[in-house]
Amino acid sequence: MTSEAEARAPHPNPPPQGGEGVGERKRILTGVRPTGALHLGHYVGALENWIRLQREYECFFLIADFQVSDHADDISRVKGNAFEVALDWLAVGLDPQGSHFEIESLVPQHAELTTWLSWWVPLGMLQRNPTLKAEMAGLEGDSVPVAFFNYPMMQAANILMPKAHLVPVGEDQLPHIELTREIARRFNRTFNVDLFPIPEPLVGRVPRLVGVDGNAKMSKSLNNAIYLGDDAATVTQKVRGMYTDPTRLRATDPGHVEGNPVFMYHDAFNPNVEEVDDLKARYVEGKVGDVEVKTKLAAALNAFLDPIREKRAYFASHPNEVREALAAGTAHASKVADATMREVRDAMGLNYLG
Ligand code: AMP
Repeated sequence: MTSEAEARAPHPNPPPQGGEGVGERKRILTGVRPTGALHLGHYVGALENWIRLQREYECFFLIADFQVSDHADDISRVKGNAFEVALDWLAVGLDPQGSHFEIESLVPQHAELTTWLSWWVPLGMLQRNPTLKAEMAGLEGDSVPVAFFNYPMMQAANILMPKAHLVPVGEDQLPHIELTREIARRFNRTFNVDLFPIPEPLVGRVPRLVGVDGNAKMSKSLNNAIYLGDDAATVTQKVRGMYTDPTRLRATDPGHVEGNPVFMYHDAFNPNVEEVDDLKARYVEGKVGDVEVKTKLAAALNAFLDPIREKRAYFASHPNEVREALAAGTAHASKVADATMREVRDAMGLNYLG
């Protein structure tokens, strides 16, 4: 489509009729921080569930740009990253016709709800949050920004805003969902209302995918990721350099499959179970070299990524479709947020002007 035709194309996401409360389908709210493009860890930890559930649930997919204070020295890249995330979502098959792609800061009600909810969150509850503790370990004590303590509360506000029932996420997010559940209970109890459902987490097929360096988590910030948009040569090169069994010096040494990232990736992405079983059997007997195991992994990963790359290239050359998906989803989310905020104010008795 030409960009002129794109400009005239029908809106992919018609505005909502109502927006009050939960409609026929239960809701999902989940999201990503715009700190870079998405990788294989995002796919098996979260995206796969989003794709599977997008018809059954009404989904709000959030780009959490209020929550990137750890990238404050790199803020100029946030806008581009948000676009990359939306490209990845479209490339893996998230459908903006039935779901809502939402930019957090364009729905400032998220910040408003965070402020109200923070009344019921003791600081100690945040200080005990294990994910927050782990992330803060890398920061100097007195230079930790207040926003760092805010972000799990903001995530709670994100989830509660559309009254989501389900939150499909990677394992590292579980403490934040637990916090959200506690905040929802406290709010409902305090005002004797049934406003917020108590949301359930749903962890992906691989709760925490290791990095190519063998580090516990594939992560943009650890430079150990294979991106959904990486080209075939880059994927092959990253796989060639992958951390494998450090105790194995020669191809004839018996190797370890358990805990070996190369085999974890085979299990996660190679649909040819027979090939994987054969490689594993020969690996423990010292009858296959790392080169063959890695060559077959690179082939499996490239076959998995090929259709994603193709769709990504299409949307990269049709940026208006990406922008429209974000604009329509954000507009819808904004209406839903207005409705929820009216109910929050009513429940709190703060609807000053009636
Ligand atoms: P983030 O990029 O930190 O905003 O994460 C977005 C979502 O992807 C969250 O639900 C994370 O838990 C999930 N995720 C990120 N990295 C991984 C990984 N290496 N393995 C599994 N899930 C992940």
